[in-house]
Amino acid sequence: MANNHGFETRCVHGAYKAESGQPQVLPIVQNTTYRYYNAQDVAELFDLESPNHMYTRLGSPTVDALEQKMALLEGGTAGMATSAGQAATMITILNICQAGDHIISASNIYGGTHNLFTVTLARLGIEATLIDQNLPKEEILKYAKPNTKAIFGETIANPALTVLDIEKFAEVAKEIGVPLIVDNTLASPALCRPIEFGANIVTHSTTKYSDGHASAVGGCVIEGGNFDWSASDKFPGLSQPDESYHGLTFHEKFGPAAFCTRLKAVLVRDMGCTMAPMNAYLTHQGLQTLHLRMERHSQNALALAKYLKNHPKVDFITYPGMEGDQYYELAQKYLPNGAGGVLSFGVKGGKAAGEKLLENLKLASIVVHVGDIRTSVLHPASTTHRQLSEEAQLAAGLNPSLIRVSVGLESIDDIIADFEQALEQI
Ligand SMILES: *Cc1c(COP(=O)(O)O)cnc(C)c1O
Repeated sequence: MANNHGFETRCVHGAYKAESGQPQVLPIVQNTTYRYYNAQDVAELFDLESPNHMYTRLGSPTVDALEQKMALLEGGTAGMATSAGQAATMITILNICQAGDHIISASNIYGGTHNLFTVTLARLGIEATLIDQNLPKEEILKYAKPNTKAIFGETIANPALTVLDIEKFAEVAKEIGVPLIVDNTLASPALCRPIEFGANIVTHSTTKYSDGHASAVGGCVIEGGNFDWSASDKFPGLSQPDESYHGLTFHEKFGPAAFCTRLKAVLVRDMGCTMAPMNAYLTHQGLQTLHLRMERHSQNALALAKYLKNHPKVDFITYPGMEGDQYYELAQKYLPNGAGGVLSFGVKGGKAAGEKLLENLKLASIVVHVGDIRTSVLHPASTTHRQLSEEAQLAAGLNPSLIRVSVGLESIDDIIADFEQALEQI
């Protein structure tokens, strides 16, 4: 499967290909172990000299196929699947940062990532500066320090729904000499491929649109092959000899796959955040229809957004694909084929009205998830942020009436009718 095929063809056919007499569908290789004839074969594996597998923590055929497919779809040079999206972000940072290092991140990021950066990584001695992603380039550059090792942002932030100016962030990263890491979960490669705009590493929670059917938790890191790890002494893990592999240098030996090879050979080896073969199969199954699903998710979300915008009981609505949204221009540039399936809105009457609305929805279900084929809703003020007072919620930028909707693939008439009847009752 070549990169010059259309995106739709890559979704359907990449990267697994059946030869004559082989299964047409990617097989699930469900095992922990591989057999070898002699010590020499095993030694080659431990020296990273063999493409074969040795133990499922360090990779397996079904997971390999998923990684190749994700890399193919993102236009990257290599991929590394993980047990969850959180693990993908964690090992990406730990592949280039250690105690004493620093990263710059957009402040509008997923809650789990916010916690990882500001609490867990802080405990490990890695400092994160969270910035307003709309600052001009010159202002962002002022946050760079000699120990800054990466810049991070989300294409479409979950749940803020801001759109990242990827080219601006890429320019900042280039000027500092560090990689730009973009979490592309909510856009998916069907709507935006950050590497084309200068990103160096792309991360995913494949749990969301990649799987798309709420079947399997997972994550993936994709490498752009477009960063010179040896250009400075900032990234010794990639540019200096690794003693646990007899002094090999990842950048020298693996070139455009250096980042992902080190993720596997060092980070996943030591931390064990492996994706299970069954989850790789389910995620691969989902990716085969990614192009179609994202198109319809985006159409349905835009239609629902337009409906809600004109409803007298709706206080505010955020959807970057809708004209008039603060991020509409950036969405036009980075997401010209649709802004994805997630929108958020608030009803007049605050938290109580929001809770009542959710109770009355019949087709849409309350779940802590986005990216499913089924329309799903969440009211953060009464669920994920319920421990905060209303004042504290407002201070944290959360409007107590805000409802996040992950618009599914049902008939748009049925989706709108469901919100209509629920709005009538408040
Ligand atoms: C869900 C999510 C994550 C975390 O992924 P998990 O698979 O739940 O670990 C990271 N980033 C974004 C944008 C997400 O939506």
